[in-house]
Amino acid sequence: MGKILDTASLKVRLTVGIASMAAFGLGSLAVWTSMRMQQILVSTHKENMKYIANRFPRDVEIYSEMIPLQQGAQRAINSLSTPDKLIWIKNAGKVIAKSEALNEVEIGNRLLAVDNVPIIPQVKDLNGSYWLMCAIPLRVGDDNLGQLYLAHNITNDRIMFVNLIRSLAGATVIAIAVMTTVIAIYIHRSMQPLKRISQLTSTISADKLDQAHINLKQAPSEVKELAETVDEMLVRLAEAWEHQRELLSNVSHELRTPLTIISGYLQSILRRENNLSQMQIEALTTAASEADRTVQLLQDLLDLARLDSGRMQLQLENIILNDLIHEVVGMAKQYSNRTIDFDTKSSDRLIIIEADNHRLKQVLLNLIDNAVKYSDPETSITVKLSRENNRAVIQVCDRGVGIPLQQQNRIFERFFRVDEARNRAGGTGLGLSIVKTLVERMGGSISVRSQLNQGSTFTICFLSVA
Ligand code: ADP
Repeated sequence: MGKILDTASLKVRLTVGIASMAAFGLGSLAVWTSMRMQQILVSTHKENMKYIANRFPRDVEIYSEMIPLQQGAQRAINSLSTPDKLIWIKNAGKVIAKSEALNEVEIGNRLLAVDNVPIIPQVKDLNGSYWLMCAIPLRVGDDNLGQLYLAHNITNDRIMFVNLIRSLAGATVIAIAVMTTVIAIYIHRSMQPLKRISQLTSTISADKLDQAHINLKQAPSEVKELAETVDEMLVRLAEAWEHQRELLSNVSHELRTPLTIISGYLQSILRRENNLSQMQIEALTTAASEADRTVQLLQDLLDLARLDSGRMQLQLENIILNDLIHEVVGMAKQYSNRTIDFDTKSSDRLIIIEADNHRLKQVLLNLIDNAVKYSDPETSITVKLSRENNRAVIQVCDRGVGIPLQQQNRIFERFFRVDEARNRAGGTGLGLSIVKTLVERMGGSISVRSQLNQGSTFTICFLSVA
């Protein structure tokens, strides 16, 4: 996994989206439940208070038939009070009757001192204890007795309610966490087939288009459909690719023969140059060299097409490298007219590898040809052969123009040429890609080390048989 959390990914977006919706839904439900519970709790007490407030004047009237009004009110208070429900009457700021419990200094002082008590019951926080309080004018018959205060202790209910809310909040958080995890796992699983498609398609190379197949066993039908579509597209691509290869191979083949003939004729005319003017000689020389270059390009294209289609069969056999390199160096010396040294530290020991004789020569000639092309004629070229552990190492070194570091890993790409302006010698840009493909097909590897204006060393390694 490259990034731990890719915020742009569908997986993260879906998870965050669904989890937020779930959190919002559950949160809203929890808030609504708690509000509703508080309402129910308070409204029961409110009803109760309303009932007492309605009944109180009648009770006072009944009690005070035989005793003074104030005493009657005290009786009524006594009969309606409970330890949690306290009643008192204030007239002109003075308490004229009150529940017995209010004689207790602590509660009494606290409750009797409360100002601004509304008509509609309201919860008051009195130093940690909660009271639902209201005050209404008290009229008994024609007498105005002042204000009737009702107070209901709801501290226990409140504690129960707060505990309940805490549990509800805890349960909601846990539920959201569990839901988010489950959703994340579920979405992760659902996305796996898509990931698999992208993994499979990323490994498909142009050469293996025909073998590429996206196989998904357990996947949602939409993803399976996508996989099938990609599969069909791969088949069409493979066919198109094959047609292109065939066309390239046929065109190269068809053009190579007449061009070789043209080149042959041009060479023979040039050889008998007695009755040709200087200008004609120059024109024919240019035409011959261009024809040769094109023949070489067609040969390279043909080789690549054969390598790509697997039609190039390699004849692997045991080859004594010392002899083969000796022969190749001899050939190269002849056609290039350059000093080419063969340096082998273990000249007395034969190094044998398994390879295709003809193709290995082609590889080495190509590398030597490049060394000749990209170095001054006065400088020498060295081909080294050595053995490192169980590996045979061949190096082609020149003291030429070198290759810039940032382009060293690109020179094996098809048609890649380092800065055309630097390339005095004409080339196709295909040589090294053929070299690399051939070396790898024979089980070897190739690398380059180069310094600008110092020279380049191409190193080929093979597993040695002896
Ligand atoms: P080309 O036909 O252009 O030689 P190659 O595939 O053989 O194509 O090489 C690709 C490019 O790598 C060349 O264009 C050249 O710029 C660079 N190159 C290859 N060999 C050497 C070398 N020995 N020294 C410097 N540059 C090289």
